[in-house]
Order: sequence, then C-alpha cells, then structure tokens
Amino acid sequence: MEIPSEFRDAMLEHAAEDHPNEVCGMLGVLGGKVVAHYRIKNAHPSPYRYEMDPKEHFVTLREVEDAGWEPAFYHSHSHSPAAPSDTDIRLAAYPTNFYLIVSPHRFDGNSQQIGEEPQVRAFLIDEGEVTEESVVVTA
Ligand SMILES: [Zn+2]
Repeated sequence: MEIPSEFRDAMLEHAAEDHPNEVCGMLGVLGGKVVAHYRIKNAHPSPYRYEMDPKEHFVTLREVEDAGWEPAFYHSHSHSPAAPSDTDIRLAAYPTNFYLIVSPHRFDGNSQQIGEEPQVRAFLIDEGEVTEESVVVTA
C-alpha cells in the first residue's frame, strides 16, 4: 500500500505525543493509497494495549465509508516491533482491512531496540492468519 509521508508522519507524531501509551486511529484508503487520517481516542490508555473509543470508532468508520474509502486501522507499539501482538491477532475484526502498526524505533523479537528509524508496517489479519503488505512511503 502507498502512504504519502504526511500521513506516515501524522501517525508517528500521534504516537510520540502519547508515548509510552499506545495510540490508535483510522485511515481512509482509495485504490491502495492512504488519503485520510483520523485520530481515535484510546479508551484504555496503556503502554501495552489499546481499545478504540467505540463512539469515535463508529462515527469515523461511517465518515470513511461515506467518502467511498476503505477503512484501515492503526495503532502504535512503544516497546515492541511494529508487528501484531497475540492480542492484536485475537481481536482483529476486519479480515479484509489493513491493520497498520507504527513504532518509534526498530525492535527485535525480544523488544530490544536495534535501530533508530521509526517503523510503519501493514498487515491483513484473517482468522489468526497474518499476511504482511508492503508499505511504500511517497512524498
Ligand atoms: Zn498491538
């Protein structure tokens, strides 16, 4: 999928503001390209989990769908790789929509930081099966 850098930066800024708590939000996707970004309140702020505020989730989803876009969902990991946790996989409710995870740094599988650069990765999660989608950040 294609992510214009302004939306990549918007997700990373959101994550940095609430660090170390996880943040979450939604994206509008048109033809494989991100065209809109919405912050959604984390109803249970914590460094280890997120839960999209149900009302904001509902209202934003309707706005995205009314605009004719596909919704995608994002959240941040502050201390672990930008990959779905067991909980993320268990709770994923939209098998055909992308789940994006942003992380302020590169971490290895033991959550040890191994690089400075921020990470943005996208996944499809269908009945426990995780498929990574390549992400291209454009200007
Ligand atoms: Zn997660």
